[in-house]
Amino acid sequence: MQFVLTALAAISILPACKKPLEQAASEEQTLGFEDSLTSGSQIGLQPMEIALTLDDGPAPESLDLAKKLRDLEVPVSYFMIGVNIQSYPQVTKEIAELKFNSGPMVGKPATIIANHSWNHKRKNNDIACIACDGTDYANMEIQKTDDLISGYVNRANKPFFFRAPGGNFFRRDLPEEVKSLAEVNKNLNKYIGPFFWDVSGDVEPVCLKTTAQKCGDYYMSQIRSKGRAHGLIILAHDIHEKTRVMLLGDEKYPGIIAQMKTEGFKFVHMDKYPSALSKFGSVPSNEFGEVQFKANRTAEKTYKFEVKVKNAARVEVFIDRLAKPLFSGAGSSLESKQNISTGGHRIFLVKGYDSSNRQVAQGSRFIDIPY
Ligand SMILES: [Zn+2]
Repeated sequence: MQFVLTALAAISILPACKKPLEQAASEEQTLGFEDSLTSGSQIGLQPMEIALTLDDGPAPESLDLAKKLRDLEVPVSYFMIGVNIQSYPQVTKEIAELKFNSGPMVGKPATIIANHSWNHKRKNNDIACIACDGTDYANMEIQKTDDLISGYVNRANKPFFFRAPGGNFFRRDLPEEVKSLAEVNKNLNKYIGPFFWDVSGDVEPVCLKTTAQKCGDYYMSQIRSKGRAHGLIILAHDIHEKTRVMLLGDEKYPGIIAQMKTEGFKFVHMDKYPSALSKFGSVPSNEFGEVQFKANRTAEKTYKFEVKVKNAARVEVFIDRLAKPLFSGAGSSLESKQNISTGGHRIFLVKGYDSSNRQVAQGSRFIDIPY
């Protein structure tokens, strides 16, 4: 893939979240998050099945934990933050490439790398609020992280996962016409979510002032009370040492992974049931790797675009969310010079069609056009 991105490092200033959330017990939170997939049962997980998700990394310590979890045959989804991936690319790569080396899943990927926004920004200690800053902002946060993780994810025909920072994704904060992440994220048509969770607490008040064991006991009480009725998505944050001890234990404490295993819970990947997932967003039939998109500034406000879509008979390129293509043409590759006079974070969407006019590929990129 070749993309020319300008000013990739520019990070927008996040306006204040319009509707900050109160920190609340996780039961209350679960009820409040209108557009997140709140429960393991919604992604098809069966009673006693556990999908472990670790957020906000990677940190340098993430890799050692990831290897230990792999050795324990525990599949894990890592909802990573773009700026942390940028800081620790090697850790990200090694986590992404971990495969099981024992057990029934031997040789299969032990991890799923997922998108948890670019910078998880919080304003004045409010909970992060990606969607209430508007669809373009949310799209930028998802896109920039996607630029980094796409290289680590080789998951043909599998969905990419997104979790909003803080799980905070309220329909009521979005423009009236936007009803789902799929619409917020329509220019990056491969993510599903936003994923919430059934069990959490390690960064909530209930755990912050206590020991790893007490926090683990809190997790286990939730897991026992909910996990026999339906499968669970468990959230924890591997960037914190106490959380790592809670998961794996120490000399005096077995940790919740061992406890769950002893009590008969089974660890599975979040995408174990693809048909259950597919109703939450478009699960693409094509990877972005089939689309190549280059943009070079040739004069003030003039850009030369080179687009290639593998196996396409016709290609269309859109800007922002306009219904009419900016340019289009027959064949699998296209060159065009365009005058782009309005500056800012502009979204370029590439669609490829076969000779029967069926869409065969899609990809999008932000380009910062100077004002
Ligand atoms: Zn987070």
